[in-house]
Amino acid sequence: MLAARLVAHNDLKVEDVPTPSPGPGEVLVEVGANTICGTDGRILRGDKTSYVELPVVLGHEVAGRVAEVGPRVTGYRVGDRVGMQPSVPDLGCWACRQGLENMCEGQRILGYSVNGGMAEYMLVPAYAVEAGCLFVAESDLPYEQLALAEPLGAVLYGQSLTPVGVGDNVLIVGAGPIGLLHLQIARLSGARSVIVSQPPSPRQALAEQFGATVVVDPLTQDLAEVVRQHTGGRGPDVVIICIGVPALVNEALRLTRPGGRINVFAGLTGKGWAEIEANLIHYKQLTVTGSSAMRRSDYETALGLITSQQVDTASMVTHRFPLKDVNDAFAAAAAQEAVKVAVLPGTTAM
Ligand SMILES: [Zn+2]
Repeated sequence: MLAARLVAHNDLKVEDVPTPSPGPGEVLVEVGANTICGTDGRILRGDKTSYVELPVVLGHEVAGRVAEVGPRVTGYRVGDRVGMQPSVPDLGCWACRQGLENMCEGQRILGYSVNGGMAEYMLVPAYAVEAGCLFVAESDLPYEQLALAEPLGAVLYGQSLTPVGVGDNVLIVGAGPIGLLHLQIARLSGARSVIVSQPPSPRQALAEQFGATVVVDPLTQDLAEVVRQHTGGRGPDVVIICIGVPALVNEALRLTRPGGRINVFAGLTGKGWAEIEANLIHYKQLTVTGSSAMRRSDYETALGLITSQQVDTASMVTHRFPLKDVNDAFAAAAAQEAVKVAVLPGTTAM
């Protein structure tokens, strides 16, 4: 089979490798689609190294069909359409016991240290199957739409920590794939208004399509003024930072209403240092949190929202590449024109 293996930083090779055969407890998945995440690019360049072990087949936003099940596997049949939550918790550590499985100390991440979805077939390890990380999708939606259950699960976990209530005003900073999913979930949660800050790009039109009250270009417009106009002069109840620019943290502290909530959702570039006016947190009584990855339950909820078409992932996939052109796919993913780029291993030409 073909597989895109990261053999060294900035060296992603499409190679012909033996198709794995599932052993006890393992499931072999024929990959239908693997969408590219910003983190994949950081792993490729060597900017992200935690939980990563090279060489590895990249890809953690994956959906496909069960091709073969190993001995003693129950609950999965050949032909089942599946998606997977890639951060597999060990279920035995302090974090797992405390309900913080997304911060599991012993987690193994598919596509980071275990071969992932940028291949014709992916072997789901027995520990991932046993942990309940492989989910059957009762849906005939295209795999590329199901693959987005992974980022959507992370978004749902983020909004569980920074809840959007009925009637809330929300500001979403950045309308990349993550911001667009946050927008859709904020709408589902009953937000009164969702302001989206995004410089000119095709992403602005998608934000409008998904129900943004107003899309602001922060490069030419006064974001603070637009926010005041749409929030009765007080500022949003909730601000979600979806691009990794450290200076935006202080901007969020300034814009949020007294008593409001902020989620630093995006990982921040560089060392992540930001100069903030901490008195804003004190005097405005702000709740600031981050969130990282998700729990298995968030993935399951995400898959349900996609298969029931409560969340539109179809419009978000803008570019598609066969596996052999995976390096072109990464180049496209790095450009602002793309929203979500899918690698489709079953496709030979596009
Ligand atoms: Zn654990």
